[in-house]
Amino acid sequence: MAIIGIDIGGTNIDIGIVDESGKILASGSIETSAHDGPQACMKRIADKANQLIEQSPANRKDIAGIGIGSPGPLDLAAGAMVHCTNFPETWGDFSMTGALAELMSLPVEIDNDANAAALGELWAGGGKGIDDFVVLTLGTGIGGGVVANGRVIRGSKGYGAELGHIAVTGGGPKCGCGSRGCLEAYASATGMINMAKQLLKTDQYNDSTSPLRNCAEDELDARMIFDSARDGDPMALEIIAKAGQTLGMAIGTLLNVFNPQKIILAGRMAQSFDILEPHITQAAKEHAFKATFETATIEPSTLSANAGLIGAAAVFAYEQKQKSND
Ligand SMILES: [Zn+2]
Repeated sequence: MAIIGIDIGGTNIDIGIVDESGKILASGSIETSAHDGPQACMKRIADKANQLIEQSPANRKDIAGIGIGSPGPLDLAAGAMVHCTNFPETWGDFSMTGALAELMSLPVEIDNDANAAALGELWAGGGKGIDDFVVLTLGTGIGGGVVANGRVIRGSKGYGAELGHIAVTGGGPKCGCGSRGCLEAYASATGMINMAKQLLKTDQYNDSTSPLRNCAEDELDARMIFDSARDGDPMALEIIAKAGQTLGMAIGTLLNVFNPQKIILAGRMAQSFDILEPHITQAAKEHAFKATFETATIEPSTLSANAGLIGAAAVFAYEQKQKSND
């Protein structure tokens, strides 16, 4: 048995043929070119998927179905985006699952990319074999996925588990969602870059020799902040400390609310887990009950660069399992 995983992003779409253990048999990427409209995009996905089936050791008859991880929010029943900020309006209400099912003659399941990340962990990552865990995806924004009693929690309409928008303070910097004081406004790459821009204007760092001062404001990225922190730059270290503390504070809350066995940190920034970890652990310990803190481990994802594809395929594997259990 094999599954086609499709990880839709604003710029690129990764497509892979994944076996039942979560191993990638063949994979490739196409440009999203969202402005061309969703129907043209689904056609290009199908063409690429057919090409990858040819390249992989799997036969077409071995393919059980297709799993999609997509930016949300999504109307899960319709398989369509709902007011998704990074995509043109033509994508709203367009059934991606319906179009692909027709093009590929295969069953298709979809979930938002953060839930897909959680399902990927459940299927083939740190969540394998455990029933209660929480995934935070740390990148440009912060996504969240909650697995409780072995099932992903979506809420009444499927819009739930937006863990990046947990308020960690009243007021605070403006978040991409329009609110203020969200976790994402501090601990995402965007939040950290904004913090650097603010600190560069303060008297404290006015005459600092921080390497972050030597680049144009619009070239600042999270990687540079982590690298500078590793070199001992005080300003970068302050940003890392603040990001880690707010993450730890939110994690403390998540530990008290869900009493999970694990908090798994995924996404690009999780590669810098080692430098964030002391701040995260200290703040989580302060904010969680002793019992919930001691029940859980906080660890980086082991799925690395393939997490998106594995997550997408896992969406299909999970839905098939739920249907066979019903
Ligand atoms: Zn927010």
